[in-house]
Amino acid sequence: MGGTFDPIHHGHLVAASEVQALLGLDEVVFVPTGRPWQKETGEVSPAEHRYLMTVVATASNPRFTVSRVDVDREGLTYTVDTLRDLTAQRPDADLFFITGADALAQILSWKDADELFELAQFVGVTRPGYALSELGLPADRVILQEVPAMAISSTDCRDRVRAGQPVWYLVPDGVVQYISKHRLYRGAP
Ligand code: ATP
Ligand code: MG
Repeated sequence: MGGTFDPIHHGHLVAASEVQALLGLDEVVFVPTGRPWQKETGEVSPAEHRYLMTVVATASNPRFTVSRVDVDREGLTYTVDTLRDLTAQRPDADLFFITGADALAQILSWKDADELFELAQFVGVTRPGYALSELGLPADRVILQEVPAMAISSTDCRDRVRAGQPVWYLVPDGVVQYISKHRLYRGAP
């Protein structure tokens, strides 16, 4: 499951857990992006903070791990590179890329879209506020999956912290504490 994870929240975690259980996956690898190509530089927190929050949030689940492939690669992050690197690291694995309805709708605009579907099966999960559809995507490479509706976004979490509102129960407790300790999302220091 790729994402900016700025910060990781319970929408990500519920989606991952649900898909893991329903598809019987051995492992869910969370892959925080390095520099996401769709988002402006400066708008995104340093990769190391996003990576560590993802580690904190997933540490207690034996089926969840976190990969540094995107954080450690130079330049902008493209999912095709993520999948190439994971394939090289785990040549025998069947890869599934878990993505929310909003991101699924954009996939055809991603770099090397055709190759993406050769490298992994895509699992599009429901997300409140977005329609889930495989329209235009290769039907045999995309699975649509309903997951418990969590109307949470990282953008909303950041706005809440900035406004002094709580993010308790939207993100894991350890992530609330990490945000507070490092004074993330507070605006200019
Ligand atoms: P931002 O608001 O900064 O874009 P976000 O909440 O959309 O953050 P991302 O890191 O952009 O989180 O998302 C990573 C992946 O998780 C994407 O595929 C996205 O569609 C999916 N996702 C995010 N939030 C949810 C949610 N509440 N339910 C289902 N899927 C989600
Ligand atoms: Mg997003």
